[in-house]
Amino acid sequence: MGARRASEDGDRRIGRRALIVGGVAAAAGTAALARDELARLWWRVPGVEKPREPGAVDYAGARWVAASDANWRRADRPDDFGVDMVIVHVTQGSFDSAVRAFQDPGHKAASHYIVGQDGRVAQMIRELDVAYHAGNRDYNERSVGIEHEGFVDRPEDLTDEMYEASARLTARICARYDIPVDRDHILGHVEVPGTDHTDPGPHWDWDRYMELVRRARTEQARTGPSGSPSATAG
Ligand SMILES: [Zn+2]
Repeated sequence: MGARRASEDGDRRIGRRALIVGGVAAAAGTAALARDELARLWWRVPGVEKPREPGAVDYAGARWVAASDANWRRADRPDDFGVDMVIVHVTQGSFDSAVRAFQDPGHKAASHYIVGQDGRVAQMIRELDVAYHAGNRDYNERSVGIEHEGFVDRPEDLTDEMYEASARLTARICARYDIPVDRDHILGHVEVPGTDHTDPGPHWDWDRYMELVRRARTEQARTGPSGSPSATAG
């Protein structure tokens, strides 16, 4: 009798302990879930700011020039919104006029990057954030926008330097988010549903551009993740 009771007590103790261990594991699971939710929504919690280094760029070849924060929305991509598109634009103006427009809080639009006819690249909005460039909320949330200096009706504006610099940038973006290098994922503003914009226009050479992106992607894969000693993510 006594022995059996001891055994029963023993079993009960083990049972209780198993229950406690199980409970701790369940609580840890809930905490992990809560942490995950918090990570997605960190920027909605008062007083919480993900560190953003002033002047830091996502692409080693770019120079940072901040856009007005009226022209983009704070986000935490690719954790809150997956990034699976690059959208190509032409500015209908000079490089400097595009920079000024994106710095203007009344403009209500801006892209992440501007590529100049001389091949220079400015980053104006972090890839973490949603830029207002596509005129379509869903496409804005899922894409990185690249403006190109020039006018859609002037083929001479689309220089070799610009195509090549843009292709290197797009290749990096595709590598970063694992975006396929094809025309379903690299598209023109004109192809965004609901848009009334025509850019990059009829003179944009898609075959040439896609070939340059593919070549840059291969080259970058060969030379390593950054291609530059100063950047880790390219
Ligand atoms: Zn556009």
